[in-house]
Amino acid sequence: MRNQYLSPSKMPIHGQHAIVMGSSMTGLLVARILSDHFERVTLIERDRLPENVEQRKGVPQGQHLHVLLVKGEQILSQLFPGLVSDLIRDGAISFDFCHDLHWFQEGGYKTRFKSDLVATAMSRPLLEYHVRRRVLDLKNVICLDQCSVTSLLASTDNRCITGVRLRRHDEGTATPQGPIPAEGVPEELLMADLVVDATGRGSRSPRWLESLGYPRPAESTVTVNLGYASRIYQQDQRLLPDVLGVMTTPAPPDGRRGGLLIPLEGSRWIVTFGGWLGDHPPADEAGFLEFARSLPTPDIYQVISQAEPLSEIVLYKLPSNLRRHYEGLKQFPEGYLVMGDAICSFNPVYGQGMTVSALEAELLQRWLQKTGQRRDLRGLAHDFFKQAAKNIENPWTLAVGEDFRFPGVKGSKPPATDLINHYVSHVHRTTFYDRESTRTFFQVMNMTHAPTALFSPRIMWRVIRNRLLRPRYFRQEQY
Ligand SMILES: Cc1cc2nc3c(=O)[nH]c(=O)nc-3n(C[C@H](O)[C@H](O)[C@H](O)COP(=O)(O)OP(=O)(O)OC[C@H]3O[C@@H](n4cnc5c(N)ncnc54)[C@H](O)[C@@H]3O)c2cc1C
Repeated sequence: MRNQYLSPSKMPIHGQHAIVMGSSMTGLLVARILSDHFERVTLIERDRLPENVEQRKGVPQGQHLHVLLVKGEQILSQLFPGLVSDLIRDGAISFDFCHDLHWFQEGGYKTRFKSDLVATAMSRPLLEYHVRRRVLDLKNVICLDQCSVTSLLASTDNRCITGVRLRRHDEGTATPQGPIPAEGVPEELLMADLVVDATGRGSRSPRWLESLGYPRPAESTVTVNLGYASRIYQQDQRLLPDVLGVMTTPAPPDGRRGGLLIPLEGSRWIVTFGGWLGDHPPADEAGFLEFARSLPTPDIYQVISQAEPLSEIVLYKLPSNLRRHYEGLKQFPEGYLVMGDAICSFNPVYGQGMTVSALEAELLQRWLQKTGQRRDLRGLAHDFFKQAAKNIENPWTLAVGEDFRFPGVKGSKPPATDLINHYVSHVHRTTFYDRESTRTFFQVMNMTHAPTALFSPRIMWRVIRNRLLRPRYFRQEQY
């Protein structure tokens, strides 16, 4: 079965042809959904797409730790039945958040116990490979790789996007930023009923739309000046006998450094360190180890100082959380959508990006199914952006709320952030002992439950009781 809701033969056709720009996670999920509603779907991707599990230039984040949250995995499993078993067969590891992770935060370790909050740990290239293989197996989906979209095509009154201009690359001109379009290669035109921008944070939609006479979307940014450094190691169970992963969260206001170690396919570990506000981990061996030693606990240092490294140390810098408010635009062309990181790119530390992409794909699917009988796309962008903004609100508030614990983070602060952070600190301290609050915390983090779950009377009562019973864990010096 390809789809949980409707069999392919019963899917209404919304148009002849849809184009999806970008074939990373958002583009692939969108192509999967559109394949049920359009006769043909064309993915256009700047990179040469690898045949195997390989890191590629257009997704540099693929070299760093990538956690697919439980909610994201649930959606992907509905879109691609059997995906998780394929991943496990290729070496991905089942991972119980409540049991398999040794997580130090706010002066203590979260209590551990078996739960049903199970995700799959693997490298980003492995996940993308399996999703891509399944999407490209669909009969009505093709991918033009090594092609860049250079601009949009519009109707004469610019009210409707009718296709894209693209340029094919010459294989020999790859650069770290991606291949350079070959000199003298003419642009080609490709027409479509729907064009979707899934080209990520660097999306040129604001500029393209402006050139057609539309306003740019307003932007919200919360500046974190985050640096990532990652390295892969050979697993050695003797170094980590009891758990599968280790996490150390920074201790703001002074501490700006954190780290996470999780297993990957091929009996490997990946370690990613993050440093806020310019306190970045370095790429040299000694500096990397020293960064590990300086974290609030030496857990990761003790493992990696003895484990065998299998890769170089790779860096990534992210200036800010960035959100483009397409929902606020009064005018927007028909036949066009922007999705995934191109709408909102979060501080990656909270692991939300792919799950938010999956939620948006699900949203698009629901809209297409609901309007199936109409067989046109009128109102799609308006309805989609409005609902996507609601979906983004919770993960955005969680991510930037956490970031505002670091004095020096700049941007528009959601209302009551300090108060909420103060309460959530108390929840963290309750998770040292209490299973119920630990489970709820992980459910919220994994986006299977709304953040309001942390404020339910059940959890509040546990926080108050813990505070009364263990006052020493709530003194100021513990912060
Ligand atoms: C360091 C880091 C770590 C992260 N960790 C996590 C994590 O743990 N969990 C999680 O869920 N998310 C994580 N994310 C976010 C996650 O990677 C993205 O949310 C996810 O890839 C979806 O992004 P996207 O597909 O919208 O865009 P991208 O992944 O940026 O892909 C854009 C695609 O468009 C192509 N492209 C760009 N321009 C053009 C053009 N003009 N023509 C044709 N093709 C084009 C690119 O080559 C690329 O393939 C992390 C991000 C970073 C930066």
